[in-house]
Amino acid sequence: MSPEDLRARLEFYRDLGITQIYRRAAAIEALPSPAASPTATEPDIPSPPPLVEMPRIEHPIELPSLVPSGDTLERISADIGDCKRCRLCKDRNKIVFGHGDAQARLVFVGEGPGADEDAQGLPFVGRAGQLLTQMIEGTSAKEGIPLKRADVYICNVVKCRPPENRTPEPDEMEICGQFLFRQLSVIKPKAICALGSTAAKALLGGKDGVTKLRGKWHKWNEIPLMVTYHPSYLLRPYNQNAKRESWEDLKKILHFIYD
Ligand code: URA
Repeated sequence: MSPEDLRARLEFYRDLGITQIYRRAAAIEALPSPAASPTATEPDIPSPPPLVEMPRIEHPIELPSLVPSGDTLERISADIGDCKRCRLCKDRNKIVFGHGDAQARLVFVGEGPGADEDAQGLPFVGRAGQLLTQMIEGTSAKEGIPLKRADVYICNVVKCRPPENRTPEPDEMEICGQFLFRQLSVIKPKAICALGSTAAKALLGGKDGVTKLRGKWHKWNEIPLMVTYHPSYLLRPYNQNAKRESWEDLKKILHFIYD
């Protein structure tokens, strides 16, 4: 690795809040050479495979925490700064950090800002956002739970709008995902709702889509997580069945948190 690559890598780790890196002892330099194999005069017995010592770790392993101690949403936002860590910075107008109650019991995670969100710097303020608000407030009211949109926290996997609203690339999700993980770790909600496959993949790993994952409880770092359809998907007229299923998912979440 060139010094420039090493510097870039270390700066990347520093931006993620990783400040400690452990060193390994040098690996064993050479394996026993073939010349050390049995001589012609010795019986032709296959020799056992050479014993290879595992590299010794000089210092106890200290796994770097991705969540700096005393972390806050303000600090995460400051760490994001005027982010240029990936190509999504090129076309964005505003970084959409996230919005809502910093002590919310429920966090919704979407995919990434659209045009309206990019213009206003706030998540889910366009058509999909209006539907999300309706879902949160309508379902709560019907279930006798006094919950407003302002009581939850809403954010996205990536904080900058992908061009043409394309799905974020894996490297974009990985870079920005670290900030999402910090947001969730700071808020520590009672439950998380992943809206759509991109959010589900970012939080659960794996390749399964919403149809397979929805309606059941999963976990993100010990926090119960429900996957449901993305509101943009529900806006399409032929997805009315999915709308009913999403309402069911939301009801499950609300009763789990507020009963
Ligand atoms: N879609 C998303 O995934 N997030 C938003 O903030 C808006 C639309």
